[in-house]
Amino acid sequence: MKNHYNIEWRKEKCINAFDCGKCLEVCPEAVFAIYAPNREEGIPPTEYIISPAMQYFCNGCGACLDVCPKDAIKLTPKVKAE
Ligand code: SF4
Ligand code: SF4
Repeated sequence: MKNHYNIEWRKEKCINAFDCGKCLEVCPEAVFAIYAPNREEGIPPTEYIISPAMQYFCNGCGACLDVCPKDAIKLTPKVKAE
């Protein structure tokens, strides 16, 4: 069952995504990606962002919710159109 969930990543709750990364490790569908939003050539990034880039593939297992220490991920079932 694909494309049945909306995933929201709440930046204000997430701890340092580069140091934690539990959601990235546990997701069986590889939904999440991590990237540095403010890249400057030759300078190590100071900020990393988690993106539910492949949320179409989410199977709703809830593993990311279980491991996130900060409740930073919100999973919402999509309402089917009549
Ligand atoms: S609910 Fe499961 S499949 Fe969906 S993003 Fe979380 S870990 Fe991945
Ligand atoms: S598991 Fe939670 S706190 Fe850790 S990187 Fe993912 S969203 Fe952030």
